[in-house]
Amino acid sequence: MNAVLANETLIRASAFAGVFLLLIAAETLWPRRRLVMARAVRWPTNLAIIALGNLSVRILAMAPAPLTAAAMAVAAERHGVGMLQLTPAPIWAKILVGVLLLDLAIWAQHVAFHRLAWLWRLHAVHHADRDIDVTTALRFHPLEIVLSMLYKSVVVAIFGTPLLSVIVFEIGLNACAMFNHANVHLPRNVDRIVRLVFVTPDLHRVHHSVHADEHNSNFGFCLSVWDRLFGTFREQPRDGHQGMSIGLNPYQNATPGRLSWALALPWRSDRT
Ligand SMILES: [Zn+2]
Ligand SMILES: [Zn+2]
Repeated sequence: MNAVLANETLIRASAFAGVFLLLIAAETLWPRRRLVMARAVRWPTNLAIIALGNLSVRILAMAPAPLTAAAMAVAAERHGVGMLQLTPAPIWAKILVGVLLLDLAIWAQHVAFHRLAWLWRLHAVHHADRDIDVTTALRFHPLEIVLSMLYKSVVVAIFGTPLLSVIVFEIGLNACAMFNHANVHLPRNVDRIVRLVFVTPDLHRVHHSVHADEHNSNFGFCLSVWDRLFGTFREQPRDGHQGMSIGLNPYQNATPGRLSWALALPWRSDRT
């Protein structure tokens, strides 16, 4: 297991790079919307924010205490702590349940980041992006990344989530987030079938609408079932995918494309 943990960074980085490049090619070939801002303006900022988030997680991983989900999973397995560790079930079932519980936990975390004002300050950085594409998927303030990782560690400790669940989930979450933020046109029939289980780009785009009622819906990142189950599911944006405005109402200008502005947004007095 420790060998798996040691290679986790490499496994995640390879999966990330592969999906990232494939989706950029798909966005270029089959774009869903015309971008409002040039990639050359938004991408350096989004990529810098992603790099700062990764650095934050690396720093957490260096701590002697298990502060990342993967490190906590190793500790839970070693000490037999957590509900799944204490349940007599086949390992494949524990891995599957572990992944599903993590996806539900991240759905609940996303709801909290919208409902609690001090968490929304951080999450607004993700929503301020004027377009959504594959780089928006990981545009989260580094403090949100740190809080999310600490939260996932607690979830893993409570449920005794197996390490393989954590690795499958982390890779899956990144891949799903990049897919459902991608500015890619999916044929309507494909979207209709995929959205029965997974969050599609059209579903997540509703969540990036400037309208508050729309951005307070479709909180899922991987599975669409949680929003259907808890009554926060919305099929389409009222202004249509081409006509809808993306971002936050006070910032329908070029400022969300600036790195310093994005990092300071949680402390701005005029933020929404
Ligand atoms: Zn959100
Ligand atoms: Zn998003």
